[in-house]
Amino acid sequence: MSSGELLSGLDPEQRAAVIAPRGPVCVLAGAGTGKTRTITHRIANLVRGGHVAPGQVLAVTFTTRAAGEMRTRLRALGVAGAQARTFHSAALRQLRYFWPRVVDERQWDVLEGKIRFVGQAAHKLGAPTDGEALRDMASEIEWSKASLISPESYPEAAAKARRDPPVPVEQMVAVYTGYEKLKNREAKLDFDDLLLHTAAALEEHAQVAEEFRDRYRCFVVDEYQDVTPLQQRVLDAWLGERDDLTVVGDPNQTIYSFAGASPRPLLAFSRRFPEASVVRLERDYRSTPEVVSLANRVISAARDRPAGSRLRLIGQRRPGPAPSFAEYDDEPAEAAAVAARIKQLIDSGVPASECAVLFRVNAQSEVYEQALSEVDIPYLVRGGQRFFDRREVRQAMAALRVATADPPAGELPKVVRELLVPVGLTDEPPPGGTARDRWEALLSLVELAEELVSTVDGADLAHFVAELDQRADAQHPPTVEGVTLASLHSAKGLEWDAVFLVGLVDGTLPIQHADDDARVEEERRLFYVGATRAREHLWLSWALSRQPGGRRGRRRSRFLYGVIPEDHPAARIAKSRDKKPAKQRCRICNTALVDSMAVKLGRCDSCPSDVDEDLLGRLKEWRTEQSREQKVPAYVVFTDATLIAIAEQRPGDSAGLVA
Ligand code: ATP
Ligand code: MG
Repeated sequence: MSSGELLSGLDPEQRAAVIAPRGPVCVLAGAGTGKTRTITHRIANLVRGGHVAPGQVLAVTFTTRAAGEMRTRLRALGVAGAQARTFHSAALRQLRYFWPRVVDERQWDVLEGKIRFVGQAAHKLGAPTDGEALRDMASEIEWSKASLISPESYPEAAAKARRDPPVPVEQMVAVYTGYEKLKNREAKLDFDDLLLHTAAALEEHAQVAEEFRDRYRCFVVDEYQDVTPLQQRVLDAWLGERDDLTVVGDPNQTIYSFAGASPRPLLAFSRRFPEASVVRLERDYRSTPEVVSLANRVISAARDRPAGSRLRLIGQRRPGPAPSFAEYDDEPAEAAAVAARIKQLIDSGVPASECAVLFRVNAQSEVYEQALSEVDIPYLVRGGQRFFDRREVRQAMAALRVATADPPAGELPKVVRELLVPVGLTDEPPPGGTARDRWEALLSLVELAEELVSTVDGADLAHFVAELDQRADAQHPPTVEGVTLASLHSAKGLEWDAVFLVGLVDGTLPIQHADDDARVEEERRLFYVGATRAREHLWLSWALSRQPGGRRGRRRSRFLYGVIPEDHPAARIAKSRDKKPAKQRCRICNTALVDSMAVKLGRCDSCPSDVDEDLLGRLKEWRTEQSREQKVPAYVVFTDATLIAIAEQRPGDSAGLVA
């Protein structure tokens, strides 16, 4: 691909980011505006122009699948050899290389999950050891490590971050300390240790840092809105004094702040690098204008949006079907309707792999698995542990691991196939039933090996086992053709023709334990992430009870307020069930006010303080008139913190300027 061709598929803003000289670049933009496309093109452009060798580029992102997609897109642009990895796999690779020099010759293994050690530590201390408590304690340890908080500093840091420790604070500190001891004694590294040790090796060993920095010269981070302090530390260690860093992100898609992530480094990027090229993208190439309009409505209702996160999306695609809203009596009825609709889509030519059912918690998956099986539609569950929990997969992984000690000769898929024969991989598929399921799970491992050799030169069995370990930890099963069932968290960055957002009830989205405003807002962003995955068809549904015949006591999600068109039957049916947002609103931008100082001032802290009273008066009048006539909330348009215009946002319309 020539450099002209490379640039011709980009809009002017994307192009500006792609051709910006080496140095700090920040792309701050909403979902579907081509951020990921921009960074892959930027890498390709730098490589083609001879500014950097492919091997000197290190691109990082947050999921294995996203990293894989980045590699695929780079290959399609004719760039081979640039590293596109998750933070963890990049760190693991680097540690393998310099570990013996900076730590010791002992054989350290990567730990698969924390629960065992957390359980042992909790047991010793007489702390609760039931599954839920252990999971919560493990998450709390993860948050602490990702936030660079040691056991000693946990009490203060947890109070400051308004954490709600699953056990009394002193006990949490003791479990965290015990966990670290047990883990270190068995020479295991958890995922956060990989990052901690990588940063420390570069910070403390000048020789290692020099070698590393000589090797990698150009850094790219996708989904930068979800960077944790620990990941930022690694990134800083990678960079040293240099500034050849491109970051892209969308603050409205920060969905991991419960795990320590923060959009602050993204929003503060141009302060940290005053000479940075900062690019904003507004055109949404992914979704139909109907989906874009819905997404805009979802996110514009967010409270406390920091300056810089008011990113509007302007749909570029041709109009498509209106999003659908549907209410059901119970979950099996909802799932059956979704399965029936997917069947119709498939019959009309939409591939099964272009449909996704997205939900808040993995437990919601089961009823959809059943409903899809009943109509014979293949599916794969992402984000659930199911694939790696399967017995044959565990047996297969054990067999492969044993074989790494003395790997049989042969480039990799054939070796894997032979090693899986004793586990049950026959040449011909069994006729059906569970035997067939087992066979398909094993076959997908062979396919994964095929995929690996096509993406990584010289990939061997050890490589493959490491890839499987990483997928098992990140819960990313190998791809099979079928409808995707995924949690909203694991859908980030991905897209499908048809997306079903299901189970939209209060208590599930927002989740029950989102008990303060900040957490509810994170849940709203999850909803936004979900809605913006759809290219064409978007279905939103909820059920009033869990089981058939159960009490129909659920409310549909509060996030649907102002999103369902007023004249939609579902809006009429359940209007009384909506939880209305708080009454106190910012006089300028109309977002609900939470903070008591803001309530007193009548203004949120993102809005300018110097808007004149006359304009405010007109704004108020106009807003009252609008809400009487159109029954839609009114919004204002900003460029950074400068009020430039007051505009109405009407579903499906572009902004109408009124002042
Ligand atoms: P997210 O925030 O969800 O990660 P994103 O900003 O990274 O989204 P991409 O995934 O890069 O968006 O792009 C969304 C879709 O739009 C992709 O299918 C991409 O190929 C397409 N796209 C992006 N830019 C253009 C363009 N200039 N012309 C045509 N299609 C484009
Ligand atoms: Mg992206």
